[in-house]
Amino acid sequence: MRELIETERLRRFAKRAGRFALDLVLPPTCTACGTEVDQPHSLCPDCFIRMHPIGKPRCDQCGVPLPAESHLGSDARCMRCERHPPPWSKARAAYIYDDGSRDLILSLKYADRTENAGVLARQMLRAGDDILATADMLVPVPVHWRRLMQRRYNQAVLLARTVGKLSNTPMLVDALRRPHATSRLAGFSPGERAKEMHDAITVKASRIKELKNRHVVVVDDILTTGATAAACTRALLDAGAASVALLAAARTIPLDSEDIDRPEDSWR
Ligand SMILES: [Zn+2]
Ligand SMILES: [Zn+2]
Repeated sequence: MRELIETERLRRFAKRAGRFALDLVLPPTCTACGTEVDQPHSLCPDCFIRMHPIGKPRCDQCGVPLPAESHLGSDARCMRCERHPPPWSKARAAYIYDDGSRDLILSLKYADRTENAGVLARQMLRAGDDILATADMLVPVPVHWRRLMQRRYNQAVLLARTVGKLSNTPMLVDALRRPHATSRLAGFSPGERAKEMHDAITVKASRIKELKNRHVVVVDDILTTGATAAACTRALLDAGAASVALLAAARTIPLDSEDIDRPEDSWR
């Protein structure tokens, strides 16, 4: 038995040493395309150019980038947030969700490219510096256990863990639960989305105490309709959190045709 343990130890050591030697021999490669780069866990110039970080001016509440000449309300919100305020206090996203960020996020989500979390988290840290400065804890958006079984990991947890390490913010990994498997929301009308998301996300009873009066930052990969984020926010506020802000790796940009005056098209 002891010999077996020793052999196993030796095998693991050899594997680690081998990987270390490989790192010394092989140059680091671009996280997105595999081209040779100077720094490990970074992007090559071509991939870097394809990514579009969201800077200012952006809406303080939903994080959507705004053209400089755009009308900003007295508290720097977009017109949509002014008319139909979302339940969360502030939202920040690192990148616009487009061809560049899509590759990085989808390969993190579906292709086991977990190292992409590092590249995305570093930009999330920059985009969310103000909300992270006042955050007590990070809470990842949960996935249903069946989806977790298929993918083996939750990409929101990977992002939250890396952002947490870089910003020294604790993560409460299991604060939120997704008790039912919800359908994909793309293509749903706002009313259908609201119905689908009703009670879709709940707070784990044993975590309520830890959330009380805390400033929580919910972490996700993509902010799209805001339906999931709103469900997470409502659950956390109901549980007694002092405030809820959002931090995403990327966010979609609402279409120009989206009618901000339609009340049923508010955050759901
Ligand atoms: Zn590249
Ligand atoms: Zn807004």
